[in-house]
Amino acid sequence: MSIEIRDIQKTFGSFTALRDVSLDVATGELVALLGPSGSGKTTLLRIIAGLEAQDTGAIRFHGEDATNAGVRERGVGFVFQHYALFRHMSVFENVAFGLRVKARGVRPSKAAIREKVQRLLELVLLDRMADRLPTQLSGGQRQRVALARALAVEPKVLLLDEPFGALDAQVRKELRRWLRRLHDEMHITSVFVTHDQEEALEVADRIVVMNSGRVEQQGTPEEVYNRPANSFVYNFLGNVNLFHGRVHEGKAQIGDFRIEAPEHAEAQDAPAVGFARPHEIEVERQGATGGGDCLETVIRRVHPVGPVVRVELQGKQLGETIEAELSQERYAELRLRAGETVFVRPRAIRVFVNDFSI
Ligand code: ADP
Ligand code: MG
Repeated sequence: MSIEIRDIQKTFGSFTALRDVSLDVATGELVALLGPSGSGKTTLLRIIAGLEAQDTGAIRFHGEDATNAGVRERGVGFVFQHYALFRHMSVFENVAFGLRVKARGVRPSKAAIREKVQRLLELVLLDRMADRLPTQLSGGQRQRVALARALAVEPKVLLLDEPFGALDAQVRKELRRWLRRLHDEMHITSVFVTHDQEEALEVADRIVVMNSGRVEQQGTPEEVYNRPANSFVYNFLGNVNLFHGRVHEGKAQIGDFRIEAPEHAEAQDAPAVGFARPHEIEVERQGATGGGDCLETVIRRVHPVGPVVRVELQGKQLGETIEAELSQERYAELRLRAGETVFVRPRAIRVFVNDFSI
């Protein structure tokens, strides 16, 4: 079941929540809607489900117009951040619910329901907990029950709105791996909302980056991470160092750095922003300023715990804060201490001209 969304506009009173949103979800794909809080992700998901009506625009399910179709006709399954399981029902009964309330003619037999629920509980790794009540489960287990319940009625499309948002970091990590494996087995067309870029990058086939009701970019995780369309996407997809400056005929002055930006040969003294990810910043004991490729800084803090060492530095000239990430080996070699003067040299600075998306 593919989904086509065309030019969706949605306002709440005088507030525009979605502007000209268009996107395609291919059959069997897992697409993440990624954006900060308030960017319109839930509104878009609710419109796909038929729980909310758009002002203008069209939705097609598998090529057929579904713009005015009701929730039931669309055959979607949902999992929300706080999915209220029925508290007085066992795990088994919660999952069976959608099947038991089907109309007589289409309701499976008791034996068929039992077999199906059993199979679903095995799939979400909860078959040994069928008789428990929701209060006897952890948060992660409850979300897995919610997913089994959504899957029981064989939805054509699965919509997940920050399903792991309320869980702690460790459990979130496990569940997203598990969700990805589940999706690889079942291949249900799925749209997954998250504000967590790591989650989107790890789980999704494709990512739709949203900002203020607009789609900023769509692409595979590699595309949006390595070739961000604009400064908003770059900034949102990971830690960055941001520098302001100008570009003139392919030459950029970005903060203290003078760099070649041949992709902006046309620019005429245009405002620009430059970005470097912390792992792209080299820290060196020796350096020569004045060449425009190296900056004299003071070390403010060192965070040596973890697989990489994070170092906060401050430019001596402009006072800007710079974050660098070093390998433990490089850190051991340099023996950095707070208060020392060192030189930083970005291996790459990504320049955006006339870009006001952040
Ligand atoms: P997200 O899920 O990305 O955090 P939402 O889609 O929930 O964002 O909301 C987008 C914007 O629309 C927010 O500013 C929110 O306050 C507003 N909004 C959402 N639903 C309503 C509503 N029913 N009435 C008024 N404003 C709403
Ligand atoms: Mg939301």
